[in-house]
Amino acid sequence: MIRDYNMKEYKKNAFRQSKHRGEIASRVRVPGGKIDSQSLMRVVEIAEKYGNGTINITSRQGFEIPHIRIEDRDKVNEELQLIIENTGVNQEEAGKGYPASGTRNVGACPGSDLCPFACYDTKEMAAKIDKMIYPNNHHVKIACTGCSNDCAHVRLNDFGIIGQTEPQYDPDRCIGCEQCVQYCSKRSVGALSVVNGKIIRDTNKCIGCGVCVNYCPTRAWTRSKEKYFRLELLGRTGKKNPRMAGDFLKWADEESILKMIKNTYEYLDKYLDMAAVEAKEHIGYIVDRTGVEEFLKYAMKDVELGPKCEMAGRIYWEGKRYDQTNELRKSMYRFSGREE
Ligand code: SF4
Ligand code: SF4
Ligand code: SF4
Repeated sequence: MIRDYNMKEYKKNAFRQSKHRGEIASRVRVPGGKIDSQSLMRVVEIAEKYGNGTINITSRQGFEIPHIRIEDRDKVNEELQLIIENTGVNQEEAGKGYPASGTRNVGACPGSDLCPFACYDTKEMAAKIDKMIYPNNHHVKIACTGCSNDCAHVRLNDFGIIGQTEPQYDPDRCIGCEQCVQYCSKRSVGALSVVNGKIIRDTNKCIGCGVCVNYCPTRAWTRSKEKYFRLELLGRTGKKNPRMAGDFLKWADEESILKMIKNTYEYLDKYLDMAAVEAKEHIGYIVDRTGVEEFLKYAMKDVELGPKCEMAGRIYWEGKRYDQTNELRKSMYRFSGREE
């Protein structure tokens, strides 16, 4: 691997290391994946002027402009200014580019700006969270998805925020077509049934997906005024122990979730292993070290959950343990007929 001695500084400035000597890639932060056309044009201009005319769209909904010569970094930073301002990203000094890269771009599905199934404005929420946590070099991943369909794959994030609605039933508008029952059963969890001509919702089963609201022809089902969220905690990718996030809160309010995220940075300030900074110790592994109780002690500080909120007594994580077993590897060798 070719390493430039200034790489640490470039990384902090949101430039990415390249395998090509003398080159770096410019990371463009796009909270919620929402960018205006003027900024998008600027990304293209930078790629044409300083790169080789190609752009990578990242899995976290930002851009990377590769093949930039290291000596062009300052000029690229100046050109990034318009994008930084238009996307509302916090900055330390105008014209100097992005001040951090550790805390990742906050992702979002299209949300209520576009999708009829959305329970909230995911883009707005992503922008709000980004404003609250950026710049920061702690390695934290957050994503917002508008409903339990989870198009944003939030369970691979440290904080996965899933919109919920509590459907409201008006029997006077109901014509008994049972569409809601069928759709809830086919597309969701089957929480609806018909009793004496009325539709009954099993509140223990209902996940607040809003499918019944979308398919009711008479608006007998409507969305609750209050917005609710399911919070999935500490999912991760990675080589050692990738895993899906675990259920933590259901029917939570926005304020509680934002507070938890903010509090988490205090936990990281205290427990991040400075020797592991270069190795980008992931928050999930820090929680493995300290125990989840210690993490929650920080994360839940001054959080007042609403009366409807349910909290998991225990978080269950399922994932691969490549650091603990070689059984899978052995069986793969056996299957291929190779000797170890
Ligand atoms: S997660 Fe739900 S709201 Fe978001 S795009 Fe998918 S279906 Fe629409
Ligand atoms: S919100 Fe979803 S789970 Fe709940 S009753 Fe409606 S369709 Fe079923
Ligand atoms: S879809 Fe609407 S109108 Fe039809 S049974 Fe359900 S609540 Fe009643």
